Amino acid sequence: MTSRKLTIALAGNPNSGKTTIFNNLTGAHQKVGNWSGVTVEKKEGVIIRHGYELTIIDLPGTYSLTPFSIEEIVARNFVLDAHPDVVIDIIDASNLERSLYLATQLREIDCKVLFALNMADMAKSRGVKIHADKLSELLDVPVVFTVGNKNEGMDALLKKAIELAENTRQTPEGRKVHYSPDIETAVADLQNFIHQALPEKLPYSERWTAIKLIEDDKIVRERILSLSGDHQQALEAQIRLARQYITDRFDDDPEIIMTDERYGFIAGIVKEAVTTSARQRVDISRNIDLVLTNRFIGFPIFILFIWGMFQLTFSVGKYPQEWITACVHALSAVLESHLPDSLFKDLLLNGIIAGVGSVIVFLPNILILFFCISLFEDTGYMARTAFLMDKIMHAIGLHGKSFIPMLMGFGCNVPAIMATRTLESEKDRILTILITPFMSCSAKLPIYIVLTGTFFAARAGTVIFIIYLTGVVLSIITGRLLRTTLLKGLDAPFVMELPPYRIPMAKSVMIHMWERSKMFLKKMGNVILIGSIVIWTLSAFPRHIEYSRNYEAEIQNLQRQEALQKPVNAAARRTLEKETAAAMDDIKGQMQAEHVEKSYMGQLGKLLAPVFAPIGIDWRGSVALLSGFVAKEIVVSTLGILYVARGDNKTEALRTALASSDMTPLSAVSMLVFVLLYLPCLATIATIRRELRSWKWTAFSIGYSTSLAWVMAFLVYHSGRFLGF
Ligand code: GDP
Ligand code: MG
Repeated sequence: MTSRKLTIALAGNPNSGKTTIFNNLTGAHQKVGNWSGVTVEKKEGVIIRHGYELTIIDLPGTYSLTPFSIEEIVARNFVLDAHPDVVIDIIDASNLERSLYLATQLREIDCKVLFALNMADMAKSRGVKIHADKLSELLDVPVVFTVGNKNEGMDALLKKAIELAENTRQTPEGRKVHYSPDIETAVADLQNFIHQALPEKLPYSERWTAIKLIEDDKIVRERILSLSGDHQQALEAQIRLARQYITDRFDDDPEIIMTDERYGFIAGIVKEAVTTSARQRVDISRNIDLVLTNRFIGFPIFILFIWGMFQLTFSVGKYPQEWITACVHALSAVLESHLPDSLFKDLLLNGIIAGVGSVIVFLPNILILFFCISLFEDTGYMARTAFLMDKIMHAIGLHGKSFIPMLMGFGCNVPAIMATRTLESEKDRILTILITPFMSCSAKLPIYIVLTGTFFAARAGTVIFIIYLTGVVLSIITGRLLRTTLLKGLDAPFVMELPPYRIPMAKSVMIHMWERSKMFLKKMGNVILIGSIVIWTLSAFPRHIEYSRNYEAEIQNLQRQEALQKPVNAAARRTLEKETAAAMDDIKGQMQAEHVEKSYMGQLGKLLAPVFAPIGIDWRGSVALLSGFVAKEIVVSTLGILYVARGDNKTEALRTALASSDMTPLSAVSMLVFVLLYLPCLATIATIRRELRSWKWTAFSIGYSTSLAWVMAFLVYHSGRFLGF
């Protein structure tokens, strides 16, 4: 016996628990969050229940089905065109009034709707009692109570959905939404005309079509007009007439009137179907908000949280970081002593392990950072930061919502740029994406640490802080600049949901954190692996180089001299061995340095040097900066190769090498400024390109940041020289 197939779509407001219920039903691992607008893609799952094959689809979260945002259009088109057998509207029962707008719109479309009154627990704790029978009766819709995060009510939901799919009874139109008599007249007239003029051709129900035409819904209008053939002009005239009929009677646009009427309809339902006990009306979320979004203490508390986040990231992250460093060392030591000398060994040790190893070390920091960010998101605090930062962000011409991607940019720009998806306005998105790379990402930190540690020892912390601050200030200036030129436009009014605070589910936080980190690891892993190999190849080839000195002979000479000496005792022998080893290391280092200088990488560096000379950076710095295009983490290891930092502690060795090089504190500052601002890494560029779907803006981002970097470094370097540093 083949099972019957049914399609069930889950619709609902953002944060109503759609994804949670979808996961419960399908068992799939999906992102579950507390941040509006996460569900942008369509998610599907197929399950077999009660002898049916059920395809379940998670629609984007929307508040309405007007064709204004991508989410709304996606959700609406799916309901209209794919004809799911049942649409389950997931309703946040603790916010019934707001949820009912979408519900009534779904009701108006000719589809079978079932209400899941989710967050039944929250409604109860807020003292909201919903009379399900009454609601069900008023709208002629089956209603099921659910608690998504406790997996309650799922079976009843599926049973009701199947029952509804099999039911052929039609709901009388008036039970869906009804308007005041004047509007009903206009709708009926237009509907009549449509019925006569456009027989059998309609993709949607006649009443709904008439309503949408009166509301001047662009998508429906275009579609219907294109179907109307000879009657197109008559239809247009009829629509105008119907709209005029309403405008004359209400003195406002029909769409506004009809929206008002729907709200009135909803208010009526709420009044009948909901009772709120006054005693229990203490709203916990609102009380927490009194503190956290308070004008005076909200901001310091926010700073405290952020400080705590960075503190946790770096101080707790330090320990696993040390373990991983030790593991990488141990691995290379084992390989070093067990593999015969060969080109492959060199590639493995100095290319792959050195390169990839330098990134893996950051994994703990990244995990912790993303853990904190997920925690902010899942508790609902993230939405408040947008609220808090709103005023400040207006200085850039953006609103508070853009702050979240910027904040995440301190961790890694890739997820930060992806987080701009929650912004409604395209211009806001572009602007936010363009300024986010100035939020200095965690991968740049090692470069800062090495350079400031070498040249500013005691003041390193202050210098790093100023660098971060410079990034923030330049992002503000850039924002203002672009807002008044290329991305001119009013900032959209601030419509930010304040979802209720929730105790985050451990599983949800973990999934969140892991999804982000996985993406980071995967992307960086691919890119860094290839980048390390390329950089190693460039520095290792050509193999045969005309050395200026005969290093081999010098080494042999040393060995011969050692053999000739006759130490008087064991201690003297040890001293002698040590001295010889050090001398040999020295020669080998010089040889390697000359090799690198004459390798392709060295040649490339010399080629680039004229570009960087005006900002005080030599050919080594040029190559290191170029390698940063692949990933910022590589800059330090490239510097290590170029300055031939030898020894167990690579960072220490590099510092010693830098200190005795031509670099001055001033040129170090110039390099720091350049690193802060210049083009984002490959993974970020790929993300920018994917999110903006525009090569033009991607190229602009690369060009703008790199020229700004050069100009700023130039200014810093030359004013420094002028001032006599
Ligand atoms: P979506 O935006 O509609 O997909 O909402 P999600 O499924 O991501 O859920 C948002 C948040 O609400 C998550 O933190 C869930 O754990 C939580 N949640 C879902 N259902 C319930 C419920 O019935 N009660 C409570 N208290 N929380 C829920
Ligand atoms: Mg979701």
